[in-house]
Amino acid sequence: MIKFLDLYKINQQYRTELNEAYTRVMDSGWYILGAEVKKFEESFAKFCGVKHAIGVANGLDALILIIRAYKELGVFSDEDEILVPSNTYIASILAISANNLVPVLIEPDLANYNIDTKLLESKITSKTKGILPVHLYGQLCQMEEINAVARKHNLKVIEDCAQSHGASVNGIKAGNWGDAAGFSFYPGKNLGALGDAGAVTTNDDQLAVTIRAIMNYGSHVKYQNKFKGINSRLDELQAALLSVKLKYLNNEITVRRYVANQYLSRIVNTKIVLPQVLSQEWHVWHLFVVRTADRNVFQKYLHENGIQTVIHYPIPPHKQEAYKEWNHLSYPVSEQIHDEVLSLPLSPVMTDDEIYGVITAINNY
Ligand SMILES: *Cc1c(COP(=O)(O)O)cnc(C)c1O
Repeated sequence: MIKFLDLYKINQQYRTELNEAYTRVMDSGWYILGAEVKKFEESFAKFCGVKHAIGVANGLDALILIIRAYKELGVFSDEDEILVPSNTYIASILAISANNLVPVLIEPDLANYNIDTKLLESKITSKTKGILPVHLYGQLCQMEEINAVARKHNLKVIEDCAQSHGASVNGIKAGNWGDAAGFSFYPGKNLGALGDAGAVTTNDDQLAVTIRAIMNYGSHVKYQNKFKGINSRLDELQAALLSVKLKYLNNEITVRRYVANQYLSRIVNTKIVLPQVLSQEWHVWHLFVVRTADRNVFQKYLHENGIQTVIHYPIPPHKQEAYKEWNHLSYPVSEQIHDEVLSLPLSPVMTDDEIYGVITAINNY
């Protein structure tokens, strides 16, 4: 069986160093908000080229905290509208709803699966206060266009970077294009912890200070609470493990690009639509997503040939029970994507035999 993603094998690569990190934290006797979180925040900020990285409990909380902090700072209010892609993973949309703001769904561009920048201006109303672009599958959105629209209409740009650690355009990394960004370090993400973890990045000092308080019960100073905050801290243990894995992230991206380039150059079956890449540096290949009309037949065929695949995602957000109020709406591009996509195995620990096994099976389909 060619696995979709072999997390065991990925983490075994760093077994010795991860064990050392674990032991160091255990023996320190200090488990929450200490030296390990500080060190990881500094190295992750440097990696992204930003002033602040704030460790939080997970990627959803990272996005929730950014929006919540803008509310506390008087930038956003209840019922304000945020533009968000209609084909994203539901977390991007939940972060908006959780803050009593209104997600306004924007169709993606079928060529690259990211928010269609041409549609943005037509959806802006007097209520619109932000854009939440998602660098889906690991490819950066057209951030220059998005930022131009945002500047013109005085909107905040909040990047969802859960799938795009290290992607860049003109040397500017994901997490350094908008006013703030949310990252996830869920185990299966390109930079994955051994449990839940996340971070916010920003160059805005005031936003950073506000988020640091809200994520820790709304408190800047112990037992003094300025906000009705939450508890969304990054554990010392996860931070220590992430510091190990961050050192190898660029190598892993290089291998992911190698696998993707093999697929792109050698899959020649015309029934399969391959992903379009704007340029090498835009994409970190969190997922290699192809499209085909008979997706379920194709998936079954690959399964019978020992190849594990996953659908990202089978149900669009507007068809979810959680968003009943949208169930009657139609987002045809998004619906087509959800009907046709399939993610092929792609990881930094795939062997050439596995890569060519996938390619051969697809070309024989
Ligand atoms: C994984 C993911 C999230 C949520 O991250 P968690 O750490 O699982 O909360 C948000 N947005 C996108 C696009 C994701 O893929």
